[in-house]
Amino acid sequence: MHRVYNFGAGPAMLPTEVLEQAQKEMLDWHNTGMSVMELGHRGELFKKLAEEIEQDFRELLNIPKNFHVLFLSGGSRTQFAAVPMNLAKDFVNTAYALIGHWSKVAAEEGKLYNDVKIVCDSGAQKYSMIPDQSTWDIPKNAAYLHYVDNETIHGVEFPFVPDSKGLPLVCDMSSNLLSRRIDFSKFALIYACAQKNFGPAGITIVILRDDLLKREAIRQTPSLMRYDLQVKEKSMFNTPPTYDWYLSGLVFKWIKAQGGVIEMEKRAEKRAQVLYDFIDQSNFYKNPVDPRYRSRMDVIFNLPDETRNDEFLKQAKAAGLTNLKGHRVLGGMRAALYNAMPQAGVLALIEFMTDFMKNR
Ligand SMILES: *Cc1c(COP(=O)(O)O)cnc(C)c1O
Repeated sequence: MHRVYNFGAGPAMLPTEVLEQAQKEMLDWHNTGMSVMELGHRGELFKKLAEEIEQDFRELLNIPKNFHVLFLSGGSRTQFAAVPMNLAKDFVNTAYALIGHWSKVAAEEGKLYNDVKIVCDSGAQKYSMIPDQSTWDIPKNAAYLHYVDNETIHGVEFPFVPDSKGLPLVCDMSSNLLSRRIDFSKFALIYACAQKNFGPAGITIVILRDDLLKREAIRQTPSLMRYDLQVKEKSMFNTPPTYDWYLSGLVFKWIKAQGGVIEMEKRAEKRAQVLYDFIDQSNFYKNPVDPRYRSRMDVIFNLPDETRNDEFLKQAKAAGLTNLKGHRVLGGMRAALYNAMPQAGVLALIEFMTDFMKNR
């Protein structure tokens, strides 16, 4: 069997053990004589499975009882709309921190529903840093403050939880959920699509504080996107992506067996540290991000001569290191180092980068 180190930012690498288990259970899940894909979502079996998955997820992140966990379809972009539709009806504006591509996209979507107040914007710095919090201009009575914890494309990550000055804090953790512990006392709502750090594309987790359900959604909100209805229906207002749900559950079990989120946190730091140290000392590769805000999950870098990018990618692929091409909005290279990436993958990448540099 041939498996590569896949540095793609999403859909991303999954733990081999998880895929093997899914393969083993493909035709006959738990002696049912059926694939889990073939189970009815309202049947006892799937209901029990869903409950167990939620329980594992709650344990991993130590989620307090006053938070609901939803497993929804539509990806994170659907949440860019669902958040303002559900939370902002009776408010004059919403607040967004802009530190990269996804923050901007979220704010643009937010503008369809309310006035958006930009509290900070690192666009002038090409999204290579996070503006100091003392400069953030946070409005008083906004519906919420939205930020993106890890900017998947620009390779910038928050090393702290911003102070929202009393506004409910809403966070897009699409590319780093389950890579570190979370202090839920600081958050009102967190969402993350699965295909970066914990599962296949097609399912998105929303963790929301109970009191937010008191807010009324705007009248045009599709029923499927209403948080109150999805809480009531246990994420089964319509047929949910059952197989993605199951696969995410296998990943949760895998994380537990590896030592939990604390272990994921340690590994993430180690993976990123080794690669950034190598890049900084190489005198060849460059990472443009302020070292204080460098992402542990998405490491971007450039060659001194961009015309050699194709050659770099071709040789990397031949060495079993795939999907290193940076996002089209930024160019250059990107190595996504999510939970499933073993340290050996990072070391193999560094070995390749060393060889490539020597043969310049
Ligand atoms: C990938 C990504 C998104 C978009 O997710 P979809 O599931 O494709 O809608 C949003 N935010 C962040 C931070 C991402 O990395």
